Amino acid sequence: YGDFNQKIDYVFKIVLIGDSAVGKSQLLARFARNEFNLESKATIGVEFQTKTLVIDNKTVKAQIWDTAGQERYRAVTSAYYRGAVGAMLVYDMTKRQSFDHIARWLEELRGHADKNIVIMLIGNKCDLGTLQAVPTEDAQEFAERENLYFMETSALEKTNVESAFMTILTEIYRIIN
Ligand code: GDP
Ligand code: MG
Repeated sequence: YGDFNQKIDYVFKIVLIGDSAVGKSQLLARFARNEFNLESKATIGVEFQTKTLVIDNKTVKAQIWDTAGQERYRAVTSAYYRGAVGAMLVYDMTKRQSFDHIARWLEELRGHADKNIVIMLIGNKCDLGTLQAVPTEDAQEFAERENLYFMETSALEKTNVESAFMTILTEIYRIIN
């Protein structure tokens, strides 16, 4: 666990995209450091975090990029997408609008990224079950139509966070091997 002086076999760049406040930074904090901050500020400065793990006896460094408050339409630059082999397209399950914008994010992603990029649709905040505004079936249907992986997560309660990142990393690994 952690970055020792180990040999890195692969570095996989993964980008997080989606509207502001859907929980991108908290998903990353949960995965990379097992943290969650109740009063999370808008992301400033930090570009990416890494986590090193083992897949199939190979050491894989996941380099996960977080938008530094650039979630306005078209504000995310092509440098952000450059070299990405995976993307997490995040919406807030309790905010319909954040799901309605997913098609737009996907279009932007596909316009910038490599065509073999592995994409996962993430409905975050599944801990707020009673406030669910996006039916699971709607998201599932969209994901199937667009050929995306799909998972509902909670950065707060840790639900499916590890699993979502591991699924995308394992699939990237599978594609290049
Ligand atoms: P970002 O703008 O997409 O990076 O969103 P943040 O990670 O900053 O989170 C926005 C807000 O949603 C913060 O108040 C977080 O505490 C909250 N939040 C993030 N993830 C979850 C979650 O899984 N469940 C709940 N209930 N709140 C969350
Ligand atoms: Mg953020």
